[in-house]
Amino acid sequence: MKILVTGGAGYIGSHVVKSLIEAGNSVVTLDNLSKGHREAVLGGRFIEGDLEDSKLLNRIMAEEEIEGVIHLAAHSLVGESMEDPGKYYYNNVANGLNLLEAMVNHGVKYIVFSSTAAVYGEPEEIPIPEDHPTQPTNTYGESKLFFEKILDRYEQIYGLKYISLRYFNAAGADPEGRIGEAHNPETHLIPIVLQKALGQREKFYIFGDDYPTRDGSCIRDYIHVSDLARAHILAINGLAGGIDSSIFNLGNGEGYSVKEVIETAGEVVGREIVAEIGERRPGDPAVLVASSEKIRTELGWEPRYPDLKTIIETAWNWQKRGGFHEDE
Ligand code: UDP
Repeated sequence: MKILVTGGAGYIGSHVVKSLIEAGNSVVTLDNLSKGHREAVLGGRFIEGDLEDSKLLNRIMAEEEIEGVIHLAAHSLVGESMEDPGKYYYNNVANGLNLLEAMVNHGVKYIVFSSTAAVYGEPEEIPIPEDHPTQPTNTYGESKLFFEKILDRYEQIYGLKYISLRYFNAAGADPEGRIGEAHNPETHLIPIVLQKALGQREKFYIFGDDYPTRDGSCIRDYIHVSDLARAHILAINGLAGGIDSSIFNLGNGEGYSVKEVIETAGEVVGREIVAEIGERRPGDPAVLVASSEKIRTELGWEPRYPDLKTIIETAWNWQKRGGFHEDE
């Protein structure tokens, strides 16, 4: 298939592009490079551009004869979304509409959408099933939930077929070592812990140790980014094969606390990694762990790297390499 990947130069997007190409698809990546890296796009055509640009989106759909879209371009930081909500509503909702309109204009029927566990809010049930109530505790999660609702309406009115993948915590790096997580500034737990281990940052904080969890720190479900990427291929192929629009969680079904992540990272690097205790981060639920039964059963998805230590090892190999190198 000929697939447009928005946000394909980002952390998750670059792994999706790599998987799509390996599976024999033709890929066009659209990314404004606000967070992504040109070097992270390992194949296909690359277009630098923004979802704000409707004309560009329409031109891409027409000229490239796009058959399906994987839409990852978005702002994705919980903390920032609670300081600058407008940024999240504009980009993740309003600009995303430009993409849907361009799809409708050109008869592009399939979209896989990058959603988030943050749509659920404080869970009433663990592991969280897809039919759990959605009451996001932060603007990021809410912006993704709004877009899911828009997708549903576009299906009803225009027959657009969608799969929304609610990611839990993407982590690790491509085991072949050419792409990985490289945010600036970095806000995610595992790379921050590994930067501390490498002496690249003086200190870091555990955001709250008074949550109602086994050790007081927040529990998350860490899923290897390559496992996450493969689910997008299953999803777009599923849509093209005629399955119904659907929402799937994507996680390992196993939760680890912030303290456990730090301890496991210490085992991987071979020395203790020391953290300070800080304030809670606004918008953080205490526990987010997925039930991924639905995607296993309906799409046949299986994680290849379910083990936290293996996930951190791939992240460590990437982190030691020092991110992207301009000359490659
Ligand atoms: N976290 C932390 N210190 C940090 C960064 C993150 O304690 O420097 C915690 C954060 O509060 C959350 C977990 O680690 O409970 C994972 O956060 P991350 O930002 O990696 O992913 P998110 O859960 O926001 O998608």
